[in-house]
Amino acid sequence: MPVAVAIVVNDKLAKLNLAAVHLLEANDEQMLLGRPVNDFVHPLDQPRSQGRLKKQGENWENATSKFRITTCKGNFRMLLVMSRAIHYEGRDAVMISGMDMTGQNEMDEQMRQSEFNFRRLFENMQDVYYRTDVKGIVQKVSPAVYKVLGYEPGEVEGKAAEAFYPQASDRDAFKKEIMMNGMVNDFPGQMVHKDGRVIDISINSQALFDDEGHFAGVEGICRDVTQRKMLERELQRLATTDSLTGIANRRAFLEHAEHIFKSCQRYQTEMTLMMLDLDFFKAINDKYGHQCGDAALIHFAETVKVELRESDLFGRLGGEEFCVLLQQASRPEAMLVAERIRAHIQAMPLNTPTGESFSLTVSIGIATYRAGDDRLGRLLERSDKALYQAKSHGRNQVTWEV
Ligand code: GH3
Ligand code: MG
Ligand code: MG
Repeated sequence: MPVAVAIVVNDKLAKLNLAAVHLLEANDEQMLLGRPVNDFVHPLDQPRSQGRLKKQGENWENATSKFRITTCKGNFRMLLVMSRAIHYEGRDAVMISGMDMTGQNEMDEQMRQSEFNFRRLFENMQDVYYRTDVKGIVQKVSPAVYKVLGYEPGEVEGKAAEAFYPQASDRDAFKKEIMMNGMVNDFPGQMVHKDGRVIDISINSQALFDDEGHFAGVEGICRDVTQRKMLERELQRLATTDSLTGIANRRAFLEHAEHIFKSCQRYQTEMTLMMLDLDFFKAINDKYGHQCGDAALIHFAETVKVELRESDLFGRLGGEEFCVLLQQASRPEAMLVAERIRAHIQAMPLNTPTGESFSLTVSIGIATYRAGDDRLGRLLERSDKALYQAKSHGRNQVTWEV
């Protein structure tokens, strides 16, 4: 027979005629038996080929269609293919017949060129091209997967895509979105590198459908955005922390405090605000120098942190003025924390580079959330007033709002 004929059982080559062996540029039939058909089909034609091989039932026949294939020697061929269901040695099988169309028309050179361009793109792209089947099993992945995830394509193909996600929730959110919209754009997620590192990725994908319109898998591009995410996190950190002490800056503190205030309003829970201002700080600067003053501010922030819990908020409002927010603390508890801070600061002297030693003291004004408070500013005003009282009554003390 001049036409190449192959019999396929379970997607694998089970029998070939001589024309097929020649077409695929194999030494003999033996070299081809047992190999998946997809080994020879162009990556972009694989979903279509897969869909045609997977048809159920008796006596179906696929219309003639063109397929791009690669031979055993890596040569490109354009085939006109027809396939139909048969029984072979008592099993359901597919008989494929193909005619080599390569060189049959003037489009051929263009096809060869575009195939060459596709290969070059596929092999050299920085992002990872991938395709999964209907069950989420990776069918095809581009060589970039080695640079991004540390695996060779052969280590990834045939595995569930899920295996590479550190959080199942990421994959679930992705699935939901692709089922709803048929595609995702710049979808954020994380994957695990072969060496165990978690990397940040962004995915652009679309759902694939077979000839009959049934969902057949997903095809897309996966980009490593770890560097970008790290930069974003660093920018976020710089924008929200005070560069001298490393605690929250004024804007970040007030923003977070605003959130907590709103939840206090809604659930009528307790919330305490402490305004802290170092005593006679100008004199410390004057006497020991500005640098020493800076060291004192760092020392102060570190000392206060020791007295706080994870859920407490601590920020530098500006200069030598700080603010602490305690969530769900009763009045006696808040008083205790404030008094501990005051005493701890006083008990921790600082050494200057010239060998001198001095102690800091701090004045603290406290206010708690009241049912009528309509904005955070009310608490800030009352704690400020209480602080003023602490200052005018001799400093180094804790004063509760009136
Ligand atoms: P008191 O609060 O007890 O009334 O007296 P004070 O001397 O602390 O008064 P005030 O709050 O008016 O002065 C704060 C001083 O803190 C003024 C400023 O020179 C100093 N200061 C503000 N920010 C910094 C800073 O980042 N580094 C240093 N070294 N000093 C600062
Ligand atoms: Mg002061
Ligand atoms: Mg001040």
